[in-house]
Amino acid sequence: MKTITRRNFNTVIAKGMGGAALLSAAPFACAMGTSQDKKKLGIALVGLGSYSTYQLAPALQDTQHCYLAGIVTGTLEKEKAWADKYGIPAKNIYNYQNFDDIANNEDIDVVYVVLPNSMHAEFSIRAAQAGKHVICEKPMGISVEECDAIIDACKKAGVKLGMGYRLHSEPYTQQVKKFVKGKTFGDIQFVSAEAAYRSTGNPDQWRLDKSLSGGGALMNMGVYAVQSAIYGTGENPISVSAQEFSTRPEYFKDTDETIMAQFEFPSGAVGNISTSHNFNANSMYVSGTSGWFQLQPANNYGPLSGRTSKGDEIKFPHESQQKLQMDDFAKHVLFGEPNKAPGDMGKRDMMIVEAIYESISKGGQKIPLDFAPGFGFGG
Ligand code: NAD
Repeated sequence: MKTITRRNFNTVIAKGMGGAALLSAAPFACAMGTSQDKKKLGIALVGLGSYSTYQLAPALQDTQHCYLAGIVTGTLEKEKAWADKYGIPAKNIYNYQNFDDIANNEDIDVVYVVLPNSMHAEFSIRAAQAGKHVICEKPMGISVEECDAIIDACKKAGVKLGMGYRLHSEPYTQQVKKFVKGKTFGDIQFVSAEAAYRSTGNPDQWRLDKSLSGGGALMNMGVYAVQSAIYGTGENPISVSAQEFSTRPEYFKDTDETIMAQFEFPSGAVGNISTSHNFNANSMYVSGTSGWFQLQPANNYGPLSGRTSKGDEIKFPHESQQKLQMDDFAKHVLFGEPNKAPGDMGKRDMMIVEAIYESISKGGQKIPLDFAPGFGFGG
């Protein structure tokens, strides 16, 4: 059977059944790591909630350059359940109090912070001070100030910092960047990006509590829409104007329900993003001088899907985005490969988030943004 490598399927835009055939031939790397295997980096997950449980830990069973070496949890029952399930030795299990002892643990190379947003800065900084490389989930913090503090701590400690922006490692998003860079559809003039879901669950969840989340839809899904607008144009915005909409104030007591924002880009391109905890949306559309392309879905765990004005379907074999992302970060640490989602990217996005909130507070006023060209773009 012909092996499809990641290198060649990144460049393929398969049509119709061809894509399905590629999908069925997708190889899966299946290398379980051990702490003795020093070719792989040991990752410790901090916060064993939904994302760690259902995405990151399973993905770490398939990664080639890193493995699940340790856990940090505040819940005693999870210690045993995770130790049993993943064969994690007791010496690699920490709680939030003794977490700093991780500095003495040679099995742990990378700390991956997967806690509520307001805890990202504290644990990323403590991880850096313990001499560990850091992956920080999105949003990087709940303010630009926190992002700066994380970046400074990592610089001071001489450790690498990556964001949990999984899409930069997956082929659909890479194809978007190639279209934009190669001007496949001419000069980009317009981008629209939507990232939203309808929240109806527990009203006491941390995502609806501003002290833990830092904000509502914008801090959660909105970050994906901001990201799509930027890689969909290949530019950082020079201004933003934004509006907030509220229809269920009794549920969204503390956090934003729906936000829309408009960007101007240095080339003259314009963009519109929508994010919400009140409706479902997951797409991006990019229009250039000689055509268009779109992804829908554009930012969920995949498989993503897309098409272009040339009549092509954008289609790649599906692999765990989290697996690709963590392996990319490990290759950055181990082999000096480019950091696809560096700390500056997380900070840039938070600068835009703060500008969006500022615009809303000023009745939709246009807020200028001044980024150095390429600031926050990963490798
Ligand atoms: P979750 O609610 O399922 O898990 C949160 C974890 O934090 C739980 O284990 C909880 O016990 C722990 N925790 C510690 N202190 C807490 C406190 N004071 N209040 C509430 N929980 C506390 O959340 P999640 O969906 O796993 O999200 C965690 C982080 O990961 C968030 O920052 C989120 O934005 C990010 N995330 C990223 C993606 C992605 O695709 N990159 C997807 C989901 C979540």
